[in-house]
Order: sequence, then C-alpha cells, then structure tokens
Amino acid sequence: MAKPARWELIDNGTTAYYRFNWPAGAVHAFSSRLGGFSDPPYHGLNLALHVGDDAGRVRQNRQAFSHALGLPAVDWACVNQVHGDRIVWVGPGEDMDEASFTAAVHADGLATDLADVPLAVFGADCGLLLFYDLQGRRVGAVHAGWRGTAAGLPRKMVEAFVARGSRPGDILVALGPQIGPCCYPVGEDVAAAFSQRWPFAEVVLGPCSAEGKRTLNLALAQRLQLEMAGIAGEHIGELGLCTSCTEALFSYRRDGGRTGRQAAVIMLKIEGHR
Ligand SMILES: [Zn+2]
Repeated sequence: MAKPARWELIDNGTTAYYRFNWPAGAVHAFSSRLGGFSDPPYHGLNLALHVGDDAGRVRQNRQAFSHALGLPAVDWACVNQVHGDRIVWVGPGEDMDEASFTAAVHADGLATDLADVPLAVFGADCGLLLFYDLQGRRVGAVHAGWRGTAAGLPRKMVEAFVARGSRPGDILVALGPQIGPCCYPVGEDVAAAFSQRWPFAEVVLGPCSAEGKRTLNLALAQRLQLEMAGIAGEHIGELGLCTSCTEALFSYRRDGGRTGRQAAVIMLKIEGHR
C-alpha cells in the first residue's frame, strides 16, 4: 500500500510552489502567485500569456519558475484552454509536436510519454490536475473547471493512460488549487450537468441556499470520478486550498475577472527514455 500523498510548500525566495511527495522520476509543481515580476492586477507570478499581462513579464515569470524547478530552458507545452474535454498527446507524430508548442491547439488536457518535455496548464479557480505513472513512464496535466469536470475530463485522462498501457493501480493524481465549495455557489444549469451524468452528484452539490443556489465541491467530483476509473483513493493527493480563500493564489471570482493564472507543471525525468 502506497503512502498517502502529502504536499509541501517550497519557498525559495523567488517563487513559492506546492508539490506532493511523489516518487522520483518526474518534476511537478503547482505555482502560487508569490514572487514573480508582474504588476497589478496580475501581481506577481502570473504564468499565463492570454490574460492581458505584459508578455515580457510573463516570460520572465516562466523562466524564474522553470529555474526554481530545475527544468531545462525549453518552452512548456501548453494549449489554448477552452473548458472542453479534449486531451492532446505531445511528441513527434502525436497531436502536438515541438513545432506547435504554442497556444494554438484547443484542448484542456496534455499528456506525453517523453522525458524532458514540461507540460503546463493554467487556472485561477478552475481545477489543475497532474497525473503520473512511474511504471508506465507517462505524465499528464488537466485544466478542469465545472465544465471539464462534468464532462469527465479527469476520468478521460486515466482512460487515455490506460489505452497506452498504464495500469490504473500505478497512476498517481494530484488535485491542485481550485475554488472550494466554501466560495462556489452554482446555478441550476451547473447542478443539472452533474445530476444528469454522475451518480455522485448529490454528494458534491451542497444544500440549496435562500437565493436558490447550491454549492459545488469540484475537487470531490474529480476524486469520485477518478475512483470510478480505478484510481486508488490513497493515490489521489489533494492540495485542499480554495483559490478564493487563499491570498497566495489567483482567483478569477475573488479578483473580479482581471487577474493572473497559476500553473500546474509536470515533466517526466527518466534518463534514456525518449
Ligand atoms: Zn473558499
């Protein structure tokens, strides 16, 4: 039985990030907004280019974060996130090769069997999830707010790993920062999207408020669908930090829409595996 996944906060003075006690073989991290070079309203470690921040500052921030993690000086593989459920594989002959490492590809999940290719997803309330199969030697990253979670994107990543030979029992998943049920009232359309698809809907939706809203526990919805896909509960690490409640994180709702994005980054680090 694996040890339960625990996370720690690493603060090196320039950046501060969260990571789990995963076995060696991959580098991974969930950034916070601490450190970095961006000015308000994107202060400080905004890692996303699509939010209106100065592109030069964002590149400086990415370099600082890459340096802190010990990543090679290469572009991260990232996608144009569209709240869908598409996963792209990164590598020669795959959906996305090195020539298309820009945000031109529309998707919300990235995966690769290649070492030394950092994958990145961005969010500021939406869930950021990382996947790691040490035995099967592959990694993945997912951006899933309510739409992606209701559409089953986290489970789809497990299925994509299994289709390439991973065993569900070998897959570790980290649920990063995202808006918590404390700060996430949702309308009937969102509640219905879960009720219509998932047997656990009533577990993740809170009671109806006086305003007719229910709350949504996104992380729990992700955990439950991952367990349905065969992931062991102790292999799912949960950061458990609400973006809106945590000043050190970007929150789209709390910050009134104009804000930066934290990132989840993962890179396979296996010698000779290419
Ligand atoms: Zn909260």
